[in-house]
Amino acid sequence: MRKNDLESIRKMFNEFEKKIETLKRLEKELDSLDTEGFEYKVKAIKSKLKSPDKIPEIEKGIAELKEKKLAKMNCPYCGAEVREEDKFCGECGKPL
Ligand SMILES: [Zn+2]
Repeated sequence: MRKNDLESIRKMFNEFEKKIETLKRLEKELDSLDTEGFEYKVKAIKSKLKSPDKIPEIEKGIAELKEKKLAKMNCPYCGAEVREEDKFCGECGKPL
């Protein structure tokens, strides 16, 4: 095996290791978030946590999850906490 081959393999391996580290970090970040009410989204992100190629999608998903938390709203009719994507209030049932 030529020296260059070995170096490129080493480089690929290092990049792969970095991706694994990133995945571990993202998994911790996801676990630390308060994701109540967003279980469906967490599930979708978790299914990608084993794929180094999906890091950009995972990062995007976590960012969306954070934004969604900030975008939490209250029902204009009864004041109950509702999610942005809700079509009806879970408390009073009025359309949002
Ligand atoms: Zn309501």
